[in-house]
Amino acid sequence: MAWWIRLRAMPLWIVPLVLAILILLLPLLGVPYAIERQIQLTMILALVVSGLNLSLGYAGELALGQAAMYAAGAYTAGLLSVAGNTDILFQLAAAAVVALAVGLLTGIPGLRLGGWSLAMTSFFLILLLPDVLSIFKDITGGRNGLTGIMPPTLFGMPLNGDAYYWVIGIVVILWFAVMRNIIVSRHGTAFRVLKQSPVLASSLGISVFRMKLLAYALGAVPAGLAGALFANLDLYISPESFAFGFATTVLAASILGGSASVYGAVVGAAILQFGLNQSREFQEYSLLFTGAFLIIGGVLLTGGLAGLFRSFVRRMDLRAAAAKGTADVTTMPGHAFVELDGFEGKRLAVENIVKSFGGNRALGGVTLAAEPGRVTALIGPNGSGKTTLLNMVCGFYRTDEGSITLDGVRLDGSTPTKVARAGVARTFQTPNIPEGISVLDAVIAGRYFSSRASVLSAVLRLPSFRRTRQADRTEAERVLELVGLSDLRDAEAAALPLGQRRMLEVARCLISQPGVLLLDEVASGLDEDEVDRLAAVIRKVAGAGGTVVLVEHNFQLVLSLADEIYALAHGEVMAHGTPAEIESDPRVLSEYLGVDTDELVAQNTEAN
Ligand code: ADP
Ligand code: MG
Repeated sequence: MAWWIRLRAMPLWIVPLVLAILILLLPLLGVPYAIERQIQLTMILALVVSGLNLSLGYAGELALGQAAMYAAGAYTAGLLSVAGNTDILFQLAAAAVVALAVGLLTGIPGLRLGGWSLAMTSFFLILLLPDVLSIFKDITGGRNGLTGIMPPTLFGMPLNGDAYYWVIGIVVILWFAVMRNIIVSRHGTAFRVLKQSPVLASSLGISVFRMKLLAYALGAVPAGLAGALFANLDLYISPESFAFGFATTVLAASILGGSASVYGAVVGAAILQFGLNQSREFQEYSLLFTGAFLIIGGVLLTGGLAGLFRSFVRRMDLRAAAAKGTADVTTMPGHAFVELDGFEGKRLAVENIVKSFGGNRALGGVTLAAEPGRVTALIGPNGSGKTTLLNMVCGFYRTDEGSITLDGVRLDGSTPTKVARAGVARTFQTPNIPEGISVLDAVIAGRYFSSRASVLSAVLRLPSFRRTRQADRTEAERVLELVGLSDLRDAEAAALPLGQRRMLEVARCLISQPGVLLLDEVASGLDEDEVDRLAAVIRKVAGAGGTVVLVEHNFQLVLSLADEIYALAHGEVMAHGTPAEIESDPRVLSEYLGVDTDELVAQNTEAN
């Protein structure tokens, strides 16, 4: 296994770098023209696929509009050329802008409507395309295609043969560098948060609509560039090239290569490009073959070829670790000396909240307050409305009656994103952790809205991006240390066992230094050590001035942690007081906890 360890010690960017050099050297190796052309088409296809990957693979939005953006780019470049403007850089820029406009124009209504709307609107866009081109046939040439495209130039120099090949190669290499930079940045993480669940995204203060639009619009750029490159390749374009078949090819390449991967687009594009053009039979039945690729990619290979590759790497890593005799990394006890500061707890006041789901009155006029520097616990049997109350605070449900305020500022009526930005952070009863990112990045996602670094700074790796990235990491390391997950910082977050995923959610909340921390049954599924660590963390947060709302079933834990306890039953506060008062309240013991008073007394004596 030594060779594997040595291989893994190499920096990861070696692979794309070698591939990039190979691509650029190819014309010098004397490859036949037919192959060189296939490679050019592969690169163009890879650009379009990469755009789809951004929205489908990373942001989780099925958008088929890439073919239309590609067409927009191609016709922009083609028409510019016909009009005498043959400069390739100008054409590329114009094509990207027009494709972006098409993306925004079609994306905004589709995304506003939510659900499957974008998939549908973008699908219609593709079907409409030939007709739109026909309507403007005086300019576009309609179904006959656009002729008269002049050979491209660069600063007045004609680009022919190999020179044009290099233009395509460089554009593709640059785009993939941009794509990679976006994906490893906080925005890439935010995309995956969104893909995991819009509820999670908004609870982290990430605007679902803006994020989806960003992914869709960014995806328009490579499609537009690809269109311009394509128009200058054959100096002829027709609606056929952008029809439904092309959209399916793009989708199949994305899924086969692995839509949640950067370089999977190249692999998927190569397989489809070379596969479909093998023979005339292939071309005749291309839609059928594309369908087959789609099914192979979608059903047999979850995560596509990139997913297959990743699991191979993981297996080899495990084998190498086993061979070296290093045990599996496990959690270390949380370091007690990590200090929390900077918590500015806010007072959460819920007044007379009423919420019904149909005829089911989940909350019937609940009033409670959580003060900074204190742990306020919420107990009650299943179905008593605890989670519903948290969801109301977070803005996921509208209140029927009553008000929710944070330091006197109304929260009810705000969107979940706004509530999160106002300083409310929460964990989920079922941990909500995005797939495909490390523990460290999962924690950093909690800071998305509070520290700013634009997409542009991420793409260009500006100093501001590096600074933010460094600050994010430092903060994440600190909270991970606090919850005892430091050693797992590079592990795949979603693959952790339940207890650690819960602790990870706590860390993700803490990194934003929330004004109010809402914990929903965060101790369930934790082992004894983890419960102790969690209790220590909660004490620290309250000690540092944070406001903690603890929804919990573990009565002993609640008694030991809470400053104030509210006992809910059937959506109403039935008891409220200090742990001592609640502990001795016979109604609480029998009604809410379903415990016999005698039994609990016996338990207590035993525990002491
Ligand atoms: P708890 O967290 O205390 O176990 P919940 O807040 O989850 O209780 O549920 C309280 C009541 O509200 C239950 O009767 C539940 O069925 C109902 N409820 C919660 N969320 C919804 C929803 N989205 N739609 C319909 N009913 C709901
Ligand atoms: Mg619940």
